[in-house]
Amino acid sequence: MTIDEGYIKYLSHWTPGPATHIVAARELDTWRKPLYEAGLIGQYKALGIGYGNISVRRGSRGLFLISGTQTGHLPATDERHYSLVTDCDIRSNIVRCSGPVQASSEAMTHAAIYALGDAIGAVVHVHSAELWQRSLGKLPTTDPNVAYGTPDMASELDRLYRLEGFRDAGIAVLAGHDEGLISFGTTLEEAANRVLLISGA
Ligand SMILES: [Zn+2]
Repeated sequence: MTIDEGYIKYLSHWTPGPATHIVAARELDTWRKPLYEAGLIGQYKALGIGYGNISVRRGSRGLFLISGTQTGHLPATDERHYSLVTDCDIRSNIVRCSGPVQASSEAMTHAAIYALGDAIGAVVHVHSAELWQRSLGKLPTTDPNVAYGTPDMASELDRLYRLEGFRDAGIAVLAGHDEGLISFGTTLEEAANRVLLISGA
């Protein structure tokens, strides 16, 4: 298995600062909890590398609040563990974020999904070997040659959304990212439930 969690492939500009969006951080934790308990967000213990992340849109300019880098192992989170992505230039591969922690290394992929439609209000990325194997090719599935967290992934997700049923299913398998799936919803509840329902958790 190739682990590419935790490697930031884009240029990240982080402005450290106090926690903001405290109510939204609490709502993120509410929906992160069942995902963590199901092992869909967590840590590869032998490697000490966290996986899975969750975000919610804030306002109309593409801002979103996302779990911070290397927070996967935490059983519970609060506003200290979330970062506000303030700008994301997919073509230049640049992410800007602010808050008490740097944004997850997968913020670029979350940004690419928010860019698909204004109605998308939340994004959930999980890992499950079992779910991934079972869903490959059955749910909308990305090209295995497209690496996660890259500008190419943004255009691949756009293709899935327009042509491969990702828009209606709200969930996709990331074939080029071992064990990875991603879902979205108008709300956090919808995005999380799309994963939880098929995981049987
Ligand atoms: Zn991942």
